[in-house]
Amino acid sequence: MPHRFAIAIDGPAASGKSTLARELAKHLGLVMVNSGAMYRAITWKALQENIDPSNNDAVVKMLGRIKIHCAEVANESTITIDGINPEGELRAEAINANVSAISAIPEVRNKLVDLQRGYLDHTSIVMEGRDIGSVVFPDTPFKIYVDADEEVRAARRSHVGEVDSVSKRDAADSERTHAPLMIADGAAVLDTSHHTIESGVLAAIEILKQQGLPL
Ligand code: C5P
Repeated sequence: MPHRFAIAIDGPAASGKSTLARELAKHLGLVMVNSGAMYRAITWKALQENIDPSNNDAVVKMLGRIKIHCAEVANESTITIDGINPEGELRAEAINANVSAISAIPEVRNKLVDLQRGYLDHTSIVMEGRDIGSVVFPDTPFKIYVDADEEVRAARRSHVGEVDSVSKRDAADSERTHAPLMIADGAAVLDTSHHTIESGVLAAIEILKQQGLPL
């Protein structure tokens, strides 16, 4: 067992991966890292600066001049950009609509993947996203791909009052060239459509045991 390790939780939008990652981190005493929040924060900054998210050059230029700082508070990841934590604004409709374009830019991904890997320098983590098991931590044995029926996922989003075209975002995230959403080599698939939070966590713990996590 390595001294520090990463549990990779990937899956499409509203599949239940954030909830699962958060509950697993609590249960196992690890830090939960929300990589989607990082892509959302870059999108937030671009929109603040009136940069067109499909203008790669402008986004990359912005990336070169902003200061991104990742940390953790109460066992969860945080991100600040030029000293501002945009957390309260990251679920806005405009961000849902533009984050896939920003996250398809290789320079954005390279920058954020470095920061994501940096967490492992000082703590063990449960990290959720789209490419955690395939690109960020391909060597970790602990990988779960979380899925749920499309209607269940859409209902979860509207239930929390969020305007989010889940299927459009999934299509963009799956079809991009760099680090598309996929089931990583070695990942176990967990369908949360008919799980409660508690039963989903128990199922995930069983998977992690089978993957060799000494629990
Ligand atoms: O997980 P969440 O829905 O907050 O992610 C927002 C967006 O960030 C995704 O739709 C995707 O475009 C991008 N993302 C990504 N790679 C990750 C995490 C999120 O491209 N590891």
